[in-house]
Amino acid sequence: MRSERGDSQEDGREALLYRRMKGGRARCLVCQRLCIIPLGGLGYCATRINRDGRLYTLIYGRVSTWRVAPAEIKPLFHFYPGSRYLSLGSVGCNFRCPGCQNWEIAHVQLDAEFREALDRGTTFISPQESVRLARKSGCQGLSWTYNEPTLWLEYILEGAKQAKEMGLFTNVVTNGFITSQGLDLLGPFLDAYRVDIKGFSQDAYRRIAHVKDHAGILEVTERARHKWNMHVEVITNIIPQHNDDERQLTALAHWICHRLGQDTPWHITRFIPHRHLSHLPPTPIKNLERVRQLGLDAGLRFVYLGNVPGHPGENTYCPSCQRTLIERRNYEILTHAIEDGHCPTCGEKIPIVGRYISPHGLGSVGL
Ligand code: SF4
Repeated sequence: MRSERGDSQEDGREALLYRRMKGGRARCLVCQRLCIIPLGGLGYCATRINRDGRLYTLIYGRVSTWRVAPAEIKPLFHFYPGSRYLSLGSVGCNFRCPGCQNWEIAHVQLDAEFREALDRGTTFISPQESVRLARKSGCQGLSWTYNEPTLWLEYILEGAKQAKEMGLFTNVVTNGFITSQGLDLLGPFLDAYRVDIKGFSQDAYRRIAHVKDHAGILEVTERARHKWNMHVEVITNIIPQHNDDERQLTALAHWICHRLGQDTPWHITRFIPHRHLSHLPPTPIKNLERVRQLGLDAGLRFVYLGNVPGHPGENTYCPSCQRTLIERRNYEILTHAIEDGHCPTCGEKIPIVGRYISPHGLGSVGL
């Protein structure tokens, strides 16, 4: 969609993180692909172009998708439960996951196709306007999601700064492939980091995301948690025959527990056959339950199941007395029993950031 409000649609704003090289080439420093982009060329994600040896982002302010959504759908269970976010996405991705649920906006990659997607599929919303829309629609926060927000670094940085000035929460839903330099730009202005850790081996990452190595994703996630004190929640979609090896999942659970902390929520979600992985079955529920138990056995105190509406694994339980504290169905909060941050039965402190915000009035934002 094109903006009808006469906003300037910026066709390229100079990128914040890159290095000029010999022969007019430039190395992008935004994500861990570290593309070397020749004159006139695009990076792997197609969102960054080399003009005269300088890199420009093509998606600044270009919004393909926006809606008001509860924190739970991200999923973000331990940060102001029930809060609502104006959730924004653009186009492009630095991964090529064969079962991507958002491939229409994420996998546009050819030059002509990308220009088409930008021209026909996006509306220009400035950072100021996104903050104004969030407040107007009764949201408590801004979230950058749907496609990979790392590619939107320049736009998110402006939006996050302004959101914090206006007292809004900020969140990214990310694959974690941002560089540490990129994260450090966002760090002072980002509250919640919901990161997808797709497996715990190079082989799993190669198969699922066409990425050689996941070590950098783990390092940057630790940096988000410890250097920037962000609230971190981890999600792993369990894909049959791709990343369901129990030894690797056990190792991942131990890594979360020891490197991020035992109170870090781990969301185990059911794979739904889609796109190039349509031939695979949905994850058997007993396998999800087994992985949840692996996580608890590894020492994690909050392991959740997702994409299984009505399953008790969606709920929050007191890690001490097992009382049900937050009952959810399909990412909606049904009941909430935490009192002043503690279990009302045994008094255990429950490490959930912020108060419960009762959800109401969800819907699309009128532009
Ligand atoms: S953000 Fe895009 S251009 Fe930059 S390194 Fe990543 S994939 Fe390459």
